[in-house]
Parts: sequence; C-alpha cells; structure tokens
Amino acid sequence: CTTVAFAGPLRATRNRIGGIMLRNDQLDQWDRECFFHPSTHLAQHARGEAPNRVIRTASGVFIEDRDGNRLLDAFAGLYCVNVGYGRQEIAEAIATQSKELAYYHAYVGHGTEASITLAKMILDRAPKNMSKVYFGLGGSDANETNVKLVWYMNNILGRPEKKKIISRWRGYHGSGLMTGSLTGLELFHKKFDLPLAQVIHTEAPYYYRRKDLAQSEADFVAHCVAELEALIEREGADTIAAFIGEPVLGTGGVVPPPAGYWAAIQKVLNKHDILLIADEVVTGFGRLGTMFGSDHYGIKPDIITIAKGLTSAYAPLSGSIVSDKVWNVLERGTDEFGAIGHGWTYSAHPIGAAAGVANLNLIDDLKLVENAGTVGAYLRKSMTEALGNHSHVGEVRGEGMLCAVEFVEDKDDRAFFDASKKIGPQVSSALLSEGVIARAMPQGDILGFAPPFCLSREEADTIVAAVARAVRAVLG
Ligand code: PLP
Repeated sequence: CTTVAFAGPLRATRNRIGGIMLRNDQLDQWDRECFFHPSTHLAQHARGEAPNRVIRTASGVFIEDRDGNRLLDAFAGLYCVNVGYGRQEIAEAIATQSKELAYYHAYVGHGTEASITLAKMILDRAPKNMSKVYFGLGGSDANETNVKLVWYMNNILGRPEKKKIISRWRGYHGSGLMTGSLTGLELFHKKFDLPLAQVIHTEAPYYYRRKDLAQSEADFVAHCVAELEALIEREGADTIAAFIGEPVLGTGGVVPPPAGYWAAIQKVLNKHDILLIADEVVTGFGRLGTMFGSDHYGIKPDIITIAKGLTSAYAPLSGSIVSDKVWNVLERGTDEFGAIGHGWTYSAHPIGAAAGVANLNLIDDLKLVENAGTVGAYLRKSMTEALGNHSHVGEVRGEGMLCAVEFVEDKDDRAFFDASKKIGPQVSSALLSEGVIARAMPQGDILGFAPPFCLSREEADTIVAAVARAVRAVLG
C-alpha cells in the first residue's frame, strides 16, 4: 500500500495529546527523526524533502489535519473506513469493551462475548458452505494463516508435495514474507528477495491492458485460462495447493474482472483439485454493493480473507473464513496430531471484536451496502460523463463503491505514459489541492477511488468536479 502525497508545510498550531502541549513544528521534527513510516521514501522523509501531514480528526467522509485543512477522503483511508469517520456507536462499543474486558486470549477454547458474537455474525453474512472464522489482526497475517492452513491440510491429506500457491500479477495480498510474495507488484518484491519459491504468478485479469488489442473480452478470458492451464502443466498439478485472488483487483489498479472470468478460472481449479482463496480484504462487507465479492461474482471459495471492512478500521482485526471442506480436514488433523500449532496473542482481540459487532450492525441499520451500490454507480457514471472523452483518459472503470481513472499518452493506440512522468501522482497531488484525496495506484497511471459507503450524491459530485479540474491542470 502506498502513501498519499500531501502538500503544504505544517503550521505551528497547538493541541493537547497525552497531556503534552505539542506544537506542529515539534511534531514535524519528531516525525522526521523518530517515525519509520510504511510505504514511504524513507530518505526523503527523514531529510524533510517530502511533505508530511498530521491528521487530527475526521467525520463522515472528511478528514482534518493540524493545519485546519479539511479534505474529502475519497479513498476511505486505505479503502477501509467503510462506514465513514467519527461513528459514535463504534467508539462507544470500543470504550465499553475496554472498560469491561480489554483483553483475554482465545487460545485453548477461550472466547469473549464479542468474539463469539462476531464469528456468528460473519458466518450469517458469508457465502454458503462456510464453517468457522479464525481471527487475526490485519489482511497480511490473515493470508499468512490461509497459506499455513492449506499446507497443513495437504499434509493431513497425505500429499505433502502439493504446496505451491498461484497468485496473479498485480494481485495484492499483503507485505509479509509469504504475502509479499503473493502480491504481484514489483515494488513489494525488489530488494526483499521475494517472491519465495512456493509462490508462482499468472496473468492479471486486466482486459484494458491486454497485449493483443484485437482480443475480445471473451478471447481475453480464454487467454487467462490458457495461461493458467499452461502454468499448472509446467509446475505439475500435484505440486499446487491453492490459487489466491481478489474478486476485483485492488491495489494492482482497481480492475473488475472481465465477464465470465471467475467461472472459467474455477473450472480449471476444480479440475486440478486446487483450492481457491478469495481475498476479500477490500471487497468483504459491502464494497461492491453486495455483502461479499464472492457472491457478487458467483465465486465458491474454500477460504475467504477478511480485514479492513470488518471493523471499518476502528480497530485492527482480520479473519480467515474456512469452508466445511477445509474445516473437516483441520478437525481430522487435530484428532490425529493434537492441538493446531497456530495462533497470535491478539487473535480475536475483544476490542477489535466489539468494534466489528458494532460496525456490522451499523452497516445493516444504515443500509450502507445498498448505498455503496447505488451511490458507487452514480459516482462512476458521473466520472465517465465528466472524463470519458478526455484524450488522456483511457478508461473509467469500477464496481460498487470502487472507481478508477486510467491515464494514457495516446488513447487510440492505448500507449501508456512513461512511468518517470509520474502522471498518476501528479493528478492525485493536483486533486489534493482541490481538497479531495484519491490514491495514485502504485503501478501505472491510475487514480483510485474507494470512498466510505455513506458517500452522498452531492459528495460524489464534489469528487468528480475536483477530479475534472485536477486532470485539466495536469493534462490539459
Ligand atoms: N489483501 C488485500 C486485498 C488488500 O488490499 C490488503 C491491503 O491493502 C491486504 C490483503 C493486506 O492487508 P493489511 O495491510 O491489513 O496487512
């Protein structure tokens, strides 16, 4: 995940944090001297060459920094604050939980009201044939869990050589050792000695970037299938345990799959007895206008990864939803070999679980999944009307409350800009000056939008008008 670039120096305002009066220049200095930021140009940040921003508060779809700038967050943090900022219902649930029971572990059969209730609520909403929820902290560790479960499962089934995991180029599944390997973006591999040998990558379902421009969408799906078949043939199906994919490619470019993609891919996986892990860290709990992306596209996963939208990021929590098929083997494993040797201290943390329960209730009460679908469609339509004919806008795409604008140097020839021109970051920076945050996706000149589900049509209009001005400022 990349950071959003902010412009503007910090003004010396005062605020009280932890009983200390902090000036902005003091915070700026400590930030440069002490804070190791993720996905950041470390040297430029430390030297003070890159702008920083200190966020102070937020409400609805707006965040506010310590300089008093109010910005419309059209990326919901990192597509995670799905219910919007400042929800008192969730804050109160967290406060109550931390007063009553801030922590107890979940090892050897322990639980809390919140964690047990949340597991039940998740399964009530999940696609059919799901059996249990394992809780973690974030999307990366949930995917690490998933890979371990798949390996464990194949060992129990007596096929220890069936271990490789297929991921897609441009997929994003985290930035740990295994999950950074699964992630199919160069930035997350280079100089980290990744990907690990157990991970193999296949074609991204990215129709707009197909090599052969003459290919129809159906031809392109057939090409993706052929690539997958060839990879399985090369590696040997008996060495491949699972395929992992996001229902809609997220960080790789916000790309909905071409029609028929998932059905065709699943056919291949079934034929070769390869499990399917649906990474729903972004799509889970409503972002596509449906509760799960798997149901949206008719995907029948063996394991589902959840995180972000589970608590709308009010507290860190993730999960692995395992199907009956997987669970039955795990049970068999513990009957044969004893307790499963997997767990984190903070698995099913009660504060995260309380946030999750309050968050899912709020999503239901405010009909936010429905709103994500209708206002998301409105945002995309308005964006297409405003920008679709621009000579440097190659495509406006999305699904539910996800939208992307891809910039090209030459539209007719679909020629992309040289990466060194940094067109995406330039547009996102111009947009920031207009008071709107969108994300310059890390690979390609793509501006991504993933606003909170509570976005109103007026706020969608504000985003589109600001984007049109920003695009004109950078590209004419
Ligand atoms: N999976 C997907 C689809 C994601 O988009 C992300 C993060 O953006 C992750 C996994 C990793 O989650 P985390 O950053 O919480 O580790």
